[in-house]
Amino acid sequence: MSLPKVFLSSLLLLPVIIFAGKCPDLAGDLKQKLSSGVTIESNDPTVTRWSEYGAPKPAFVVNVAAEKDVAATVKYAVSKNIQFLAQDGGAGWAKTSTIDNCDVVINMRKLNQVTVSGDKTTLTHGGGAITSEVIDAAYAAGVQVISPNCNCVGNMGAYLGGGYSRLAGKYGLGVDNLLSVNMVNADGDLRTVTEKSDPALWWAIRGAGPNFGVVTSATIKAYEVPQEKNTAWLGGLIFTQDKIEALVTAINNLKLQSQMAIFLYYATSEGEPNVITFPFCAGCTAEEGKKLFASIYALEPVADTTAVTPFNEVNAGGDTFCEFGGRKPAYGSGMAKLDPATWRGIWDDYVAWLKNPGTEASTILMEAYSMDKARSISTNSASFPHRNTINFHGVALPWYTDAALDGEAESFANKVRTRLRATDGLGKDSSYINFAHGDESLEIIYGDSLSKLKATKAANDPKNVFNQWFPLSKGRSNQAPATDEA
Ligand SMILES: Cc1cc2nc3c(=O)[nH]c(=O)nc-3n(C[C@H](O)[C@H](O)[C@H](O)COP(=O)(O)OP(=O)(O)OC[C@H]3O[C@@H](n4cnc5c(N)ncnc54)[C@H](O)[C@@H]3O)c2cc1C
Repeated sequence: MSLPKVFLSSLLLLPVIIFAGKCPDLAGDLKQKLSSGVTIESNDPTVTRWSEYGAPKPAFVVNVAAEKDVAATVKYAVSKNIQFLAQDGGAGWAKTSTIDNCDVVINMRKLNQVTVSGDKTTLTHGGGAITSEVIDAAYAAGVQVISPNCNCVGNMGAYLGGGYSRLAGKYGLGVDNLLSVNMVNADGDLRTVTEKSDPALWWAIRGAGPNFGVVTSATIKAYEVPQEKNTAWLGGLIFTQDKIEALVTAINNLKLQSQMAIFLYYATSEGEPNVITFPFCAGCTAEEGKKLFASIYALEPVADTTAVTPFNEVNAGGDTFCEFGGRKPAYGSGMAKLDPATWRGIWDDYVAWLKNPGTEASTILMEAYSMDKARSISTNSASFPHRNTINFHGVALPWYTDAALDGEAESFANKVRTRLRATDGLGKDSSYINFAHGDESLEIIYGDSLSKLKATKAANDPKNVFNQWFPLSKGRSNQAPATDEA
């Protein structure tokens, strides 16, 4: 005799219900310690994220409203043995999060104030500010700053892992532009951290930041550029697929000057796969841009949408890429060089993957930045390990809604990554932490910085309370949460 299905599924749910019932009463006792603007979601909260694949499943979302709320929430979570994850833009795609059961997401988005100093040399923003907010404030004040190329990305989320921007050739990476942070440490204390105050921690947070604390606000370098000069020439050049080898060779051989960057995409339009490059030139006229990218134009694009654009609109082309929701198990890898045959193989993989219904938003992308400025800064200045080795970043990005496709998506994107690694021209596999999948070894992510990072971690977070983003140490995640009675 078989048990009725309803009874069976109730039995399966029982442990979850019992467990949830034992969670600490955040909405009650934590709420009292927080500022009046805070809300705590506890009834099956959903966190809006760029990708639902591998997303955290918290029991509570604390929408903090002041820097001290972050400190109080971290202190509370540590005292109750519950895990927590700070969320800024929610664009992080790595599947390293183990947030579940009684765990907490600290939603930083209300900490999004941005101010530019009177002398236009620094910009200060809250730990929850996203790129569009930073760029809009910078443009309005007549400055440029290092900020990611897509509007939805958390500025600190990007900076704490490295921080690539198309302005990197002029100003370096995000980690090179950070001046000071207010940060909640493993004891739940809010401190100002600078190069002078704590050199080892300062080195560590610029490359592996989420392992060391939650940044509640940051001051970064700003560079005065009057609005009328604050423009870039950029746009899409579409090529027929028979040009892949020639295009990849041309990009590989292109010497990027400080104002230049170039991206390559395999993406669909009206259901058909396309090959698109996105050249970028800060402060250039169309004529200057076309001259600097003459080797790309020589391959005769079939469409050209390039134009001179005010800097507060340069990221608009990435807004479709910023669309939240859906499943996007992305796999990224760094390269010293581009191999034409590899990119032909990836095209074939991509076209085959697109035969799955509902996958047309899937994209392959390659990004190349001018690295001269970043390489003029010592590799030992920050824990970010790849400034002297990676010239190109490749990412396979399957995009769909049906979770039943997860397995096939993983094997497609992993195959692309294997192809990239096979001809990457690097001595050892290396991935930018913010483009990595989450299944890599720590050596691939942290490179030569790994052993010093582990030592700094042991000194600053011995209990491993910051354990959700390519964690440098193991442990704590399996501990049972302390109940209110504990
Ligand atoms: C559409 C898109 C475009 C992108 N473009 C770029 C780009 O141009 N340049 C680039 O370098 N990267 C880029 N990335 C990668 C991006 O840097 C990472 O996805 C990054 O992790 C996103 O940060 P977030 O705050 O949006 O995400 P979240 O998921 O909120 O955070 C990611 C991780 O950072 C931690 N974190 C975030 N904020 C803080 C904080 N204030 N203090 C401590 N830890 C924090 C989180 O706890 C989490 O572990 C892009 C990603 C996407 C999806």
